[in-house]
Amino acid sequence: MDTSFYKCCAVPMCKSTSIRTPKKLFIHVPKNAQIRRKWLKLAKRHPASLTPKSTSYFCEDHFDLQNDMENYVQYTTMGVVGRIRMRPGCLPTKFACQPMRAKTFTDDCRPAAAKRQRLVLINECEEEIKAATFQQSENLNIEVPNQDEDSKFSELSDEFEISISYACKIFTENVSKIAEVMRPFIVNLDKASIKRCLPIAYRKNYYNVTCIIDCLEIEIQTPGKALHQALTWSEYKKTNTIKYLISSTPNGLVNYISQGYGGRISDVCLVENCGFLNSLPIGAHVMADRGFKHIETLLLGIQCKLIRPPSIVSGNKLSKEEVKETKKIASLRIHIERVIRRVREFSFLKPHACINKYLIGRLDDVIAIACGLINLQNSLINK
Ligand SMILES: [Zn+2]
Repeated sequence: MDTSFYKCCAVPMCKSTSIRTPKKLFIHVPKNAQIRRKWLKLAKRHPASLTPKSTSYFCEDHFDLQNDMENYVQYTTMGVVGRIRMRPGCLPTKFACQPMRAKTFTDDCRPAAAKRQRLVLINECEEEIKAATFQQSENLNIEVPNQDEDSKFSELSDEFEISISYACKIFTENVSKIAEVMRPFIVNLDKASIKRCLPIAYRKNYYNVTCIIDCLEIEIQTPGKALHQALTWSEYKKTNTIKYLISSTPNGLVNYISQGYGGRISDVCLVENCGFLNSLPIGAHVMADRGFKHIETLLLGIQCKLIRPPSIVSGNKLSKEEVKETKKIASLRIHIERVIRRVREFSFLKPHACINKYLIGRLDDVIAIACGLINLQNSLINK
């Protein structure tokens, strides 16, 4: 019996837990909504008291194992099974732990009673987890994320039969190693190579453009400290974010990704600080939108040029040529937008994915992996 992962029986009144009764089998409550409801109803547990996707167990006391368990023979002969397989459609039938079943439990269990019971359970779990993790916490510092990521880690823990904290540990330990492998795919190409693959739309007036830049903001959970809250607050997104500078070649290959900065930083400050300017070859033309107009002097300082839409001076209308140029640059800048859209396709980075505060430290690596991977995808531009 694997006791590294705390399990407790979800049947009201049942006292089985993987610590108190380590010899008992704990059977997964199915995630299929209909079957789950049926099981909970039989156990006289209000369906609302259990979140639909949570990992829950009923202990073996509530089943006729001999008939309900597919690998029962293996279990009895070997004394252990890797994964408990129940017969499809089997239902919990035994509830000896609920002596006054008909009387005390009504179908819709009173919310206050359910709450009290949950609290008792939570306290008990917390104490036992504390006791269990105390021995191994000397050299490990595992923090289990909650919310959205939690459901993914719990899926992993189900899939590989490991604890959620262990799944989380494997993730955080390995993401940096994967990032190390993926970073070389973010290539800083020389001017000649970029020119050779220049999309047709650039060839007439914008043949010197070597990169298009934009900022990418990833929403994060509100940090605990007020200072961190202030530093990551993004006026633009109206939430706490981590901001990256991303640069792609005209044909949509990511050739630079900065490290993450608090969402409060301005675009100009970010460009100035992140080291992007050092990666530019002399004479490079950088395309950006109006928000970056203040980097013009920075670029001039290193003999590069900023290509941006003409700025609108209040009161003055743009001339016909300027409107044309604005439209033209917008249509060419679309490539970086499409690159960002590809980055956002990873569910970890999707537009409203809120990065758990314990995973923020890994975000740089995650972004690097995403950028490396999209560079391996098919070309953005149809030739
Ligand atoms: Zn039980």
